[in-house]
Amino acid sequence: MQKIHVVVIGGGYGGIRAIERLSKDSHIEITLIDQKPYHYLQTEVYDFIANKVDMSEVMIDLPSLMKSFSLVDFVCDEVTFVDYNKQTLQTASSQTLTYDFLIFATGSRTYFPDFIKGLRDNAHGVKSIPTALDFKQQFERALFDRIDSQHANCAVEPFNIVIGGAGLSGVEIAAEMAAYANRFYNNGNFGCRGIDVYLIDAYKTILFGMDPFLIDSAHERLLKLGVHVWHNNRISEVRQKEIVLDNGKTLDFEFMIFTGGVCASSLSQELGLEMTPKGHLNVNEDLSIAGYPNVFAIGDIANILNKEGKPLPPTAQLAERSAEHVARTIIEKRRGKASQPFRFNNQGIMIALGGEYGAGILPGGIKVKGYLAYLVKKAISLYYTIPLRRRSAIGKYR
Ligand SMILES: Cc1cc2nc3c(=O)[nH]c(=O)nc-3n(C[C@H](O)[C@H](O)[C@H](O)COP(=O)(O)OP(=O)(O)OC[C@H]3O[C@@H](n4cnc5c(N)ncnc54)[C@H](O)[C@@H]3O)c2cc1C
Repeated sequence: MQKIHVVVIGGGYGGIRAIERLSKDSHIEITLIDQKPYHYLQTEVYDFIANKVDMSEVMIDLPSLMKSFSLVDFVCDEVTFVDYNKQTLQTASSQTLTYDFLIFATGSRTYFPDFIKGLRDNAHGVKSIPTALDFKQQFERALFDRIDSQHANCAVEPFNIVIGGAGLSGVEIAAEMAAYANRFYNNGNFGCRGIDVYLIDAYKTILFGMDPFLIDSAHERLLKLGVHVWHNNRISEVRQKEIVLDNGKTLDFEFMIFTGGVCASSLSQELGLEMTPKGHLNVNEDLSIAGYPNVFAIGDIANILNKEGKPLPPTAQLAERSAEHVARTIIEKRRGKASQPFRFNNQGIMIALGGEYGAGILPGGIKVKGYLAYLVKKAISLYYTIPLRRRSAIGKYR
């Protein structure tokens, strides 16, 4: 039987899961194209910027990982154009690839809204390793300079870190940065004033829209860690070292991280497909693109709707589930079967809340918080990374 060729663009949570599933069918040849030679474990980035783990813990080498599969090629390049009629795609280095089936899995990037003046120029993002690394390195240097310049009377300026946006990633980063600051100052027994972490959000609660148990547990923990939680506060301008709120109040800062939202990866602007104002590709019920039954979008780049027609929040979990659905659909289509609609069955949520503490809701609605929740969160992360690291170790020597 003739083999079919599936091209997956993007080796993140969705792309990798799609390849794992597709590679079980020996009649399918796969090419993964990613502009980076690594899979970035963004869900672990709070540990990285707070110095709990090193860079290797948030990366997995894609060439090694892909070599561990038979019938999978890896191309390190940026996709720039797709011709749906010819079933070809172009890359930045002028390569042309053909496909029978195509999966867009290029994720998202930090959304810096234009209505917040100066935000893009003066705030850090953490949606890529270079931006997270920049923040981490500049932060450590500034921390050292502060200790170095302190005098016995502690006459130094405040050292504030502002996190803009109190969604899942903002809350996790604020909690871990505060835990880190506490650990750092206690460890060195530094006598002078430490770091203040501010978490600022325009909504009336942090984690707006999530289960009240998560909102309350996270809020309580953040306060215990000494985080200044300013919900109901809209940032209107970000200057070089100062934010301005709608009510005119200002706050000096040393560093600002913006986690206030995401928009689709820039590729979506080049695709000539129907999309939302933030570039998320509209998809049919089976996650294919209207008019192109052999082209699919999964994960953060897709505008995936729930049964009520509302967009599902972008998470690694949704990226993986949507990838599994599309892989199954392609395998079934190859056998001549019709596609089925995608239904997202949320398996729960776990939030890291600084140090060895977390909160979450497990399948079946079981609520956990504290050390146990931290352990569950770590176990979920290891369950994801251990098999991939094992595979990439095999691929490295192939
Ligand atoms: C700080 C933080 C914490 C988070 N915590 C959680 C959490 O606890 N739980 C959870 O479920 N989710 C969490 N998320 C969200 C989660 O990380 C994303 O939903 C997930 O990464 C989406 O997966 P994806 O496969 O769609 O895209 P990604 O994982 O972003 O992968 C996209 C890939 O596409 C590649 N790419 C992009 N454009 C091109 C192009 N033109 N050509 C070739 N390659 C391209 C990129 O290099 C990248 O490798 C968190 C996110 C952040 C930032």
